[in-house]
Amino acid sequence: MENGEKVENVVIIGGGPAGLAASIYNARANLNPLVFGGSPYGGQLMLTSDVENYPGYESILGPELVEKWRGHAKKFGVRIIDQNVVKVDFSQKPFKVSTATTTHLARSVIIATGAKALWLGLDSETRLRGKGVSACATCDGFFFKNKTVGVVGGGDTAMEEALTLVKFAKKVYIIHRKNTFRASKIMQDRVLSHPQIEVIWNAAIEEVVGENKVEGVKLKTIDQRPQTVDQRQETTDRRPQTVDHRLETIDKGLESKVYNLDIDGLFIAIGHKPDTGLFTQQVELDAKGYVITLERAYEEAVKKMINNQNPNSKENLKIGNWDLIENWKLGFGNYRSMTSVPGVFAAGDNVDHMYRQAATAVGMGVAAALEVERWLEVSS
Ligand SMILES: Cc1cc2nc3c(=O)[nH]c(=O)nc-3n(C[C@H](O)[C@H](O)[C@H](O)COP(=O)(O)OP(=O)(O)OC[C@H]3O[C@@H](n4cnc5c(N)ncnc54)[C@H](O)[C@@H]3O)c2cc1C
Repeated sequence: MENGEKVENVVIIGGGPAGLAASIYNARANLNPLVFGGSPYGGQLMLTSDVENYPGYESILGPELVEKWRGHAKKFGVRIIDQNVVKVDFSQKPFKVSTATTTHLARSVIIATGAKALWLGLDSETRLRGKGVSACATCDGFFFKNKTVGVVGGGDTAMEEALTLVKFAKKVYIIHRKNTFRASKIMQDRVLSHPQIEVIWNAAIEEVVGENKVEGVKLKTIDQRPQTVDQRQETTDRRPQTVDHRLETIDKGLESKVYNLDIDGLFIAIGHKPDTGLFTQQVELDAKGYVITLERAYEEAVKKMINNQNPNSKENLKIGNWDLIENWKLGFGNYRSMTSVPGVFAAGDNVDHMYRQAATAVGMGVAAALEVERWLEVSS
């Protein structure tokens, strides 16, 4: 069903911190924004308990904070529809944004669909989320002062999480399925030389143990074949390539063994997936699916200049079909939240692969809203 000929000033796709913050600004600028909050609504903070790092609240439950933002937005007249957008068409103006039942026309759009932390998929992990199982060391590391924690993963994120956690915890185990990390060498070196961080190689989590809080994990060794000297040299590891000898063996099989490891918290650091499948072929995305806004496009262009054999080539200033020189000439150079489609903006964790915090998502949402305001004043 086409929603008449009404053209919205701005449609915001996503009702987490970024989308709601943007909506409050746009509503107070009399733009009467329409938010599709998604189903389930609220975003990642709905999955957490105590939030202690959002300015203004010493401690607040994640879902409570979301309700405060929704109430705040509604007070200024924001229309929030808690449905998923299933299709967009940014190829012509006005843009089209469709749910399963309605299509809406918009002069501008803010993409704020966020991201999802990847989880192992164990029942025990789901049950203990927010009770010692987390996907965010910056958010929850503080709760583990002088405790022992585990980090699952082998990429840069896992290294970063371990180095963040070790500022609080007395001991950090990195639990990794393989016998080498895929993290950058500099991050590996920092982790492997840290006296309080220990790596448990070739091990996967079988179960997170604990009734109402994490008390430990059951680990299963995956591959106990000794490494060759050559393989060892490929890694920067200087430690024995075995599981921790102090772990208690509780089951011995032919192929693998199961061990108990006592820890107080478990941080899953196996990656994030931005919720941007909907926007493939519509705006430029990076290889991992993050939306590339102009700010990121500049960064990518500089990288291309440094890495390209021909640093002066104008090709360095193209991101896919997006020509940054043309973009600048058209006067779009200061719309840092704008995507490769003029009039479509993006904010929050679907852009930000670095900080991934509620406060940064809110900040990005506000920036996008202010840019929308400016954009609507100058665009026809
Ligand atoms: C377990 C956990 C604990 C955390 N703890 C903290 C903390 O203590 N402090 C902190 O600062 N940060 C914390 N974070 C991070 C914080 O939650 C995120 O950085 C923040 O929520 C990102 O906001 P966002 O609006 O970009 O995206 P999200 O919060 O992911 O919200 C995205 C929204 O878009 C909606 N959506 C998705 N697809 C569609 C669609 N097709 N149509 C319509 N809507 C759609 C979703 O339903 C959701 O409402 C935590 C994250 C996790 C996972």
